[in-house]
Amino acid sequence: MRAAALHSYKPLNHENNAPHSFGNMKALSSAVLVVLLSISLVSSHDQIDFHHFLRCLPAHSHRSFPIAEAILVPSNSSFQSIYQLRANNLRILSSATSRPVAIITALHPSHAQATVICAKRHGLQVRIRSGGHDYEGLSYTSSVPFVIMDMFNLNSIDIDMRTKTAWIQAGATTGELYYRIAEKRKVHGFPSGVCTTLGIGGHLSGVGYGVLMRKYGLSIDHIIDAQLVDADGRIHNRRSMGEDVFWAIRGGGITSFGVILAWRVKLVRVPPKVTVFTVQRTLDQGATELAYRWQQVAPKLPKNLFVRL
Ligand SMILES: Cc1cc2nc3c(=O)[nH]c(=O)nc-3n(C[C@H](O)[C@H](O)[C@H](O)COP(=O)(O)OP(=O)(O)OC[C@H]3O[C@@H](n4cnc5c(N)ncnc54)[C@H](O)[C@@H]3O)c2cc1C
Repeated sequence: MRAAALHSYKPLNHENNAPHSFGNMKALSSAVLVVLLSISLVSSHDQIDFHHFLRCLPAHSHRSFPIAEAILVPSNSSFQSIYQLRANNLRILSSATSRPVAIITALHPSHAQATVICAKRHGLQVRIRSGGHDYEGLSYTSSVPFVIMDMFNLNSIDIDMRTKTAWIQAGATTGELYYRIAEKRKVHGFPSGVCTTLGIGGHLSGVGYGVLMRKYGLSIDHIIDAQLVDADGRIHNRRSMGEDVFWAIRGGGITSFGVILAWRVKLVRVPPKVTVFTVQRTLDQGATELAYRWQQVAPKLPKNLFVRL
């Protein structure tokens, strides 16, 4: 199974298979031979790297949390379902899409550290997935051999009502966050996305707008700390990463900077009750006029009112 997966992410040879690029059959057969040889050489080389990668992982993760329990390879029965279930844009998942050589379903922060260290050492790209809502599938596809670090098990939400702050692990969803805050106090909330299955890891690194936007701005305006694994596998907080990096990861596309383990955010006040209503208009009923008026009126309304068209 692994060998098959390793073959599948070597699509570069497809171009060379076009018959018109060869002058005659002799040239064709020698070219095919060269391609086949290079596939087997590259694949066995990759395979060795992959086995070294797997062997490297335990040495860099916490002994009390065996990383073996977090590793899924294509021969595991749940590999395919976890891969697909958490890929939000199914159009990207054609049979031609290259699959990861492994999915590391991190159970402990040290699993993220080990994945970064070992992938770098053994030539694998790391794709990080929290909620899997990336429109382009960047968290679960790649054109080079890659491993997915899936954060869904790291999903704790620790709310401190004394300081009105929360530490949220990357694998938690926006819906889980709203629910946990409401469980603690009905008069607090957090300004984030409308969709309740977004992963906190990816969503908070890419701005985060929703129904509290007019009153409180964006999610990133309320982030006060973070836990970040850097390219050398070290864990940083706001102080150790420095203000420049802390600024960049809030909106700059986190994947360029490291792996977010958790964000710390400040909660906001909300009324215990809100009124929600929907008005439906067809074009015949004046929807165009409504849209036009909405643009003029919406910015001038009190901040406690959010109107979405
Ligand atoms: C149905 C739907 C509704 C949406 N609604 C809203 C909305 O209301 N408001 C809004 O602002 N946005 C919305 N979005 C956009 C959404 O916020 C972004 O797509 C966001 O990046 C999704 O984060 P994720 O963790 O779910 O996705 P993922 O696919 O897991 O990740 C997105 C990106 O972040 C990277 N990443 C993920 N986790 C980590 C991590 N822990 N460390 C480092 N990098 C990481 C991934 O590699 C990828 O590049 C919506 C998207 C969809 C598909």
